[in-house]
Formats: sequence, structure tokens, C-alpha cells
Amino acid sequence: MYNENMEKIRIIGAGLAGSEAAIYLAKKGYDIELWEMRPKYETGAHATANPAELVCSNSLGSSDILSASGLLKKEAELLGSTLFKTAKECAVPSGNSLSVDRVGFSNKIKEIINSYKNIKVVNEKYEKIDPNVPTIIATGPLSAKELAQNFKEEFGQEDFHFYDAIAPIVEKSSINFDKAFYASRWDKGEADFINCPFAKEEYENFYNILINSERAPLKEFEANYFEGCMPIEVMAARGVDTLRFGPMKPVGLFDKRIETEFKKNQFYAVVQLRQDDKMANLYNLVGFQTNLKWGEQKKLVQSIPGLENANIVRYGVMHANTFINSPKILNKCLQTKKYENIFFAGQITGVEGYCESISTGLLAAINLDKFLKKEEMITLTNNTMLGALVEYITFEEHKKFQPINSNWGITAEVIGDKKKLKDKKYKNEIRSKRALEEICKITGEVNNEIFN
Ligand SMILES: Cc1cc2nc3c(=O)[nH]c(=O)nc-3n(C[C@H](O)[C@H](O)[C@H](O)COP(=O)(O)OP(=O)(O)OC[C@H]3O[C@@H](n4cnc5c(N)ncnc54)[C@H](O)[C@@H]3O)c2cc1C
Repeated sequence: MYNENMEKIRIIGAGLAGSEAAIYLAKKGYDIELWEMRPKYETGAHATANPAELVCSNSLGSSDILSASGLLKKEAELLGSTLFKTAKECAVPSGNSLSVDRVGFSNKIKEIINSYKNIKVVNEKYEKIDPNVPTIIATGPLSAKELAQNFKEEFGQEDFHFYDAIAPIVEKSSINFDKAFYASRWDKGEADFINCPFAKEEYENFYNILINSERAPLKEFEANYFEGCMPIEVMAARGVDTLRFGPMKPVGLFDKRIETEFKKNQFYAVVQLRQDDKMANLYNLVGFQTNLKWGEQKKLVQSIPGLENANIVRYGVMHANTFINSPKILNKCLQTKKYENIFFAGQITGVEGYCESISTGLLAAINLDKFLKKEEMITLTNNTMLGALVEYITFEEHKKFQPINSNWGITAEVIGDKKKLKDKKYKNEIRSKRALEEICKITGEVNNEIFN
């Protein structure tokens, strides 16, 4: 029975992360206040009043543990996820991926939440964090603006973002360095950037692909988020040379392998790529925020000299997305550095996607439980997919922090026979095995059975 006089835990937002966290902590016996503003207040994307509503696709991605998304799900299942277990029970046929009957899924989660007498659902808008109450904030990409304002006051004006305007990110190992080269403009500082140079015809080909590519539609409520940022397709529409005088300007960029008179332009245009992760496995295309459809982006990126076979781990997107500056605000347990009682989870931390939101909801709940019991909280290494996500969102040296989804590029490098490692399946088996071993060490599970 919910007991008003006991110390309670507050969970803000009954979306994917919040529902996962509430159920985990209810099972541990805590009294939970689960705040959800719907249906009284709308987010603009949710269509029902139910918890754990999937706002768009009904797919939770691949089930294969040799894929990044499949591994993340498996890790969360082993750590005690209720939402992934329920998703499997509500699955609809979709090959090797986990897709669900969305209404059935959120109805089932609602039933589970209602079955816990120690969860009290508060259908109100939460507006101000209270550091005296252990709390998990999981208000998602469309957090109510009053609470967002309160975060700004608590954690700093600059540490808050209201939209994603992201450039694609590629894996360095897939870049062709016969064409691409390291340099910084005018040789200033270290040669930190990877540069992809264009001859005139190559630029014209690229430009034609770009202006003929289809864009992803913006939602009506999103239109006013993007006034201040310019996607490349909009720049390109202003004229054939706009990009060459903007993010693709070639001046001061020289490939020292080519004999040339210094200070004279070597190239017609250049795309620069900047390091994106601690291990320098990932590079983002500088100034290339885009809202093109993903298939079109792939065609465009692979038309860039040096990126013909680029493996895109994160496509450019533009959409409304409230997220905190986690590298500054959170530690690796998803606890705020400022208030030890306050944790964040879900898309608001800068992870992106259904599975990522559920998994961080679970991790925040596990750690809040441990924190309240004065036990050591868990921090996962980047051998695991969940650990790699958390490491990415809390990496303090990001030049510009942008959300990330699960992908192999953020996990620890695999060391071994280089020839054998060219076989993707072999490499992913090693990655999955080491990840599940780490998780099993925490849960005490026997790993052999999972992997065979
Ligand atoms: C339009 C859109 C489409 C998306 N499509 C996909 C997709 O197809 N696939 C994918 O993997 N990911 C998608 N995402 C990204 C992401 O996976 C989802 O947004 C996911 O639901 C995030 O989970 P969450 O738990 O962090 O937030 P949510 O599931 O959004 O839950 C947050 C909850 O908090 C509530 N809330 C907000 N503020 C307050 C407040 N102050 N007080 C009380 N309650 C509050 C909201 O009503 C909401 O129920 C999409 C995102 C958006 C915005």
C-alpha cells in the first residue's frame, strides 16, 4: 500500500524511461510518486494518456545480439528490464527485429504500473526539482517548458538544448585515406581535422545530389525550433557556391602529399570531419546539419571523395529535442553532480531512441536504489553498449555535445588478429561476448547459456 509518511521516490515522466524506472523501484519496495502531465497537458507528439507510449515507429530495432541495438536490449534484459520483457510479450512479426503492438504494449505497462499499490500516479505537470526528494527526471525530448526553465536555473542557461540539428557521424575506419588527409586550416595547431577534398566535377556531382534529395518533414510543433540553424540543403538552395563559401570552404587546407605552392588553393571545396568521441573512432561532418531522409543522406555522404564506403553510425536529424548538457551535469551513474538525490534518464540525457531511453531509465533506477541503500553504484565500461552510451553522454571534452544512439563506434576497440577482425560477424561476437560477460558479473548470471 502507498504510505504517505514513508520516504518516497519521485519519478517525473511516465514515458519509456520513467515507466521502466518506476516499475524497477516499485519491485524493490519503495513508495513511488510517478508524475505524468498527460492527458491534462499535451506534448505535441503523444496521442494517448498511457504510459510508455511509442510516439512514432512501433519497432524497437534488431533482436540480434550481434547488432548494437540487440546487444543493448539483451544487456537491459539481464539487468532486470520489465519493458523489454513486456515488448517481447506484445511482439508482432517483423523478421529479426522486435516490433510491438503499440497499444497492447502501453496498455500492458499501464496494467503493471497499476498493479503496484506502492506506485501513486500523479497526473500533473511537475515544475520544480526538489533536491530533498530522491528523484529521477525522465521527461523526454518534449519536456514541459516550465520544468525546462527550472533546469536552466538549476544547471545553467547554456546547458540546455531544445532541438537536435545534427550532422552525420561516420566511423574513421571506413574513411579512404588515399583521398582524405589530416590537416588544420592554415596549419594552425594540431592537424586534428580529417579533410575530404573535391575537384570541381566532384563538387558539382555532390551539389546535384544534394539539391535533388528529399527532406524529412518537420512536425508542425517543431517548425519554430529551427529558425536559428541552417541545414546544408537550405544553404545549397541559395546558390551553387554558397557551401563553398561556407562549411565547405577550401582555403588554407593543404594535403602535404601533393606538391603545391603554399597559400594557393589546392582544392575546389573541402568537407572537414571533426573527432567525435574519446577514442577517435567517430568523426562528424563539420557544419553538415541536415534534415534529408536517411537514404538520401547515405547517397550524399558517399558521394564525398574519401567517404565512398563511409559507415554512417549516426544520421543527421533535425527535430525538437530537449536535452541537458550531460557531460557537465551528470556522472556515470546518471546522478547529477550538483544534487546527489537527483538522477536523469531517457532521451533528456542525450541518448536517442526507444531502447536507449528504456535502458538508461533502468540504469538510473538501479543506481538510485543502490545510492539510497548506501551501496556502491554501478558504472559500466564501454565494453558494454549501455556503458558506452553513458560514457559518450558524460564525456566532458565534447566540443559540441549532441545526442547519440547505440552503435559499435562508441564501444571499446577490439584487439586481436587484424585479418580475422575484418570479418564483421567475428568482431561482433567478441564485442557481444565481452559485454555480456561484464553484465553477468554484475547480475551473477551464468553467461555461457546466453551466448550459446
Ligand atoms: C516525434 C518523435 C518521434 C520519435 N520517433 C522515434 C522512433 O521512431 N524510434 C525511436 O527509437 N525513437 C524515437 N524518438 C525518440 C525517443 O526514443 C522517444 O522520444 C522516447 O519516447 C523517449 O523516451 P523518454 O522516456 O525519454 O521520453 P518520453 O517517452 O517522451 O516520456 C516523457 C514523459 O514525460 C512527460 N512529461 C514531460 N514533462 C513533464 C512534466 N513537467 N511533468 C510531468 N510529466 C512530464 C511526457 O508527457 C512524457 O509522457 C522520437 C521522438 C520524437 C519527439
